[in-house]
Amino acid sequence: MCGIIGYIGNKQARDVVLKGLKRMEYRGYDSAGIALLNGGLHVTKCKGKVKALESLIDSKDEGFVGIGHTRWATHGEPNDVNSHPHTSNSGKIALVHNGIIENFNSLKQKLESEGYSFYSDTDTEVAVKLFESVLDKNPELSLEKAVQLALGQINGAYGFAIVHADFPDRIIVSRKGSPLLIGVGDGEMLIASDASAVAEYTDKVVYLDEGELAVIQKDSYQVLDSNDVELTKEVHELAVSLEEIEKGGFPHFMLKEIFEQPKTISDSLRGRLNPDLGTITLGGLSNVMDKLVNTKRIIIAACGTSWHSALFGEYLFEWLAKISVEVEYASEFRYRDPLINEGDVVFVISQSGETADTLAALRKAKEKGASVYGIVNVVGSSIARETDAGVYLHAGPEIGVASTKAFTGQVTVLTLIAVSLAIHKGVIEKAESDRIINALARIPSQVQSILDRSEQIKNIADLFTYAPNFLYLGRSFSFPVALEGALKLKEISYIHAEGYPAAEMKHGPIALIDDMMPVVVIAATKHTNDKMVSNIEEVKARKGRIISITSEKNQEVKELSEFNFTIPDTEDVLSPLLSVIPLQLLSYYVAVNRGANVDQPRNLAKSVTVE
Ligand code: GLU
Repeated sequence: MCGIIGYIGNKQARDVVLKGLKRMEYRGYDSAGIALLNGGLHVTKCKGKVKALESLIDSKDEGFVGIGHTRWATHGEPNDVNSHPHTSNSGKIALVHNGIIENFNSLKQKLESEGYSFYSDTDTEVAVKLFESVLDKNPELSLEKAVQLALGQINGAYGFAIVHADFPDRIIVSRKGSPLLIGVGDGEMLIASDASAVAEYTDKVVYLDEGELAVIQKDSYQVLDSNDVELTKEVHELAVSLEEIEKGGFPHFMLKEIFEQPKTISDSLRGRLNPDLGTITLGGLSNVMDKLVNTKRIIIAACGTSWHSALFGEYLFEWLAKISVEVEYASEFRYRDPLINEGDVVFVISQSGETADTLAALRKAKEKGASVYGIVNVVGSSIARETDAGVYLHAGPEIGVASTKAFTGQVTVLTLIAVSLAIHKGVIEKAESDRIINALARIPSQVQSILDRSEQIKNIADLFTYAPNFLYLGRSFSFPVALEGALKLKEISYIHAEGYPAAEMKHGPIALIDDMMPVVVIAATKHTNDKMVSNIEEVKARKGRIISITSEKNQEVKELSEFNFTIPDTEDVLSPLLSVIPLQLLSYYVAVNRGANVDQPRNLAKSVTVE
């Protein structure tokens, strides 16, 4: 959440910053702002999208040093005043912030008593006043030393980028809990919350770690730890292409990403799945496979869509690898006193690898002695760096706020891990693992065949665009898919939707069913089909409108449904990879019909870096 960008070099900072903000707008779009150094400090900011900011900026806004921000508000409503950058009383310091300053109230009172005045409702403003107060008291300090000194007083999470009119040759950045990277150019440097903002200018990046501060100058960067010791940081090669972060002819990133799934699933399988030999190789877990084979219990912690993948992981690991699994909301896990026994393994799942609660759950699990492995999309992200081992999705940048290809990537990776574990443990017959591995290899083309019929889903979406509620039902491996389908619809079309285990419906939601209620039934697991058929009858008896997703062969469910969309036949354990696709499309088309902003749904943002 929130995009931070900074530039120092020979180009007009305004252009680089605005472009970077546009690329990172999926991280927050409550407001946008920019601060340029050019003799003095020039700040322009406003409520709304980067486009609105752009219209306020003209060619006179020059300067070779600048910072910018797209906000996802935590403290203070999205308005012009609360927008970042925030400025000091002297008007010489400006900063942008990602995160939450938890002790902002007490700091504010103290600073007010010292004579500093405040203009906004944000937590962020106290940081700029605090830096100013330290410099006022210690005018001999450099900007970086003053910031370092002040950071010790800040509780909470932050990624800061700071400029000062009296130090026009530098940008100071620091992070604790929020991501920041340095884009290392030739005679120019960038800083950003994520790689998409710098990819156009350089393929060399340095990831800042917790508590680090960096002094960014045109030709150099210096990274210091919290004790002021200079660090030598590894320079990573970026593997993000411009094509990957652009819409490529699609009207929305979400639709592009839905249609990319045959490729992204293939990319997740590439080099890992060998159908000829019936084997799976997961380089990222090879050193810990013995530990995994011997573990008695796996805990999977995640948030949002990744939590739905985690739930699928529970069903899958228990079914195939015969390992007991517990699924945790990362935000709950971190504040409980979870019991971790010797030998327990914790998996954390996060698309961005920066999800604040998931990162904290990872740290908690480590603190308690667990081995922690990651399932992450963004290479080099905090979770990827802090876990003991892990598997990347290789799904490429996901920019649509509603996750699609990351979900199928996570499900693919979980399947690879589960089957591999089952083979290593010797708890699966060769014939069964061969069958699953071969079926997995067919998934990308089967997903393509679903996408080729997207028009059918659009027709269903057209009929239900204005339904006030939706119910999604599934059993077994289709239950996490029901949850995910309902979440997609809620996120982007603002229709209330609930996902339920089909049989649980009788314990409450059945009361909601009438002839106005669309009920999306995911009947994609053969071993629960008879039970699902009974649940469909129960809905029909109350005049619910059945929209079913089922395999081509499932004549029985097709006949019971008012609307049906068929998916190719596959193994039960793989069915979520197919059944979720029509649900993603359904939510997309409904949202478009309702005129909703699909890529930037209200109140949401991607990469949830605040808890
Ligand atoms: N807490 C800050 C605010 O509400 C920063 C939010 C963000 O990360 O965008 O302004």
